[in-house]
Amino acid sequence: MAQADYCSTHQPDFSGKNMDGTTLHQMEELEAYTQRWIAKNQNRVSLREVITIPVVVHILWNTPADNFTDLEIEAQIDGLTADFRKRNENVSIIPPVFQPFAADVEIEFCLATVFEGTETNGIVRKETPFTGIGSLEHSDGRKRICYDDLGGSDAWDPDNYINIWVGQLNGPLGKATFPSMADSKFEDGVFIDPSAFGFFCSSTSNYFLGRTLTHEMGHFFNLHHIWGEDGCVTGDLVDDTPMQDTDYRSQCPSYPQVSCGSEDMFMNYMDYTNDNCMAMFTKGQKMRMLAALDTFPRESLKTSGGCALGNTKDITLTPDDILLFPNPASDCVHIDLDLDNDLPIRMAIFDTAGREIYANQIFVKDLRTFDISNISNGVYFIYFETNNQVASKKLIIDK
Ligand SMILES: [Zn+2]
Repeated sequence: MAQADYCSTHQPDFSGKNMDGTTLHQMEELEAYTQRWIAKNQNRVSLREVITIPVVVHILWNTPADNFTDLEIEAQIDGLTADFRKRNENVSIIPPVFQPFAADVEIEFCLATVFEGTETNGIVRKETPFTGIGSLEHSDGRKRICYDDLGGSDAWDPDNYINIWVGQLNGPLGKATFPSMADSKFEDGVFIDPSAFGFFCSSTSNYFLGRTLTHEMGHFFNLHHIWGEDGCVTGDLVDDTPMQDTDYRSQCPSYPQVSCGSEDMFMNYMDYTNDNCMAMFTKGQKMRMLAALDTFPRESLKTSGGCALGNTKDITLTPDDILLFPNPASDCVHIDLDLDNDLPIRMAIFDTAGREIYANQIFVKDLRTFDISNISNGVYFIYFETNNQVASKKLIIDK
């Protein structure tokens, strides 16, 4: 893995060194709009409602290792939402001095449930003959990964869906387009290398919690790298992130680290820190993202009907509503309940002798990853009880 090239998103460079005049002008206009929006809306943010944005995941696999199951993709998108909603399990690693700045961005993501009037699972999966497809351009300048006829996968209407392409990038772990900055609207979106895609319990990789997607989604909504890429000069144009000299790529630094005369917020998703050492966006970053969602071309994503149909969630709890993966599981298990319910739920785990070995009260929104490292190998039953309904599913633990 080419860790020196973590993210190849074209970062705005207001010196104009690495940009043509037109692009620089576009970036300056976007920045002027962003700053005006933030000034105007500073006190209104808490009044808004949570926004849910439909995504489509295009898997372009060249080798079987690049392919992902539907459940793996669902867990990745759930993880993305958890990061944006400040429901990530590792929120406790945020040092006390930075905790007041950590934001619930109040944006959620759903795998699209409807496409052109038809029910869908929001996943397109294709085998491609091209290695490194995410780095290839056709002779006419089009990016191969974004087009069916070039061996990739056509974007779904970018006005209504965020397109996430997962395919070999030949170096970087991810990249994304800033608002209005894609070469074509059909190439607007997020690109993730298979080596950094997916939310897994453990891995030998530094990037196993799907946070490359969180980082790139930050760029998609106009966030810059937290170190600003020009030493201690411009920074990331966000008020509540300290000025930082450089990135902490492939590291899990101990707190504190100091540069530019202040403590670095290296646990921010817009650094390059290892996945399990990232934990927050700030309120200032949230404002930039909301500004991006309030203007062309991202504005229409807020009113997309892409998740309106085919939603199977209801208030009845049945065994089919319990999704466990992986199963058998070795160190953690992802739990998802297809249940439209904000009542307390009793979750319990029994062994085959009927002994209760775990019990807790939870809510659907908090269910995600359950640590089973303290439970020995064997067959178990996970029970959920809510609103006088009970359902259970078998779970096999095999370490
Ligand atoms: Zn980046």
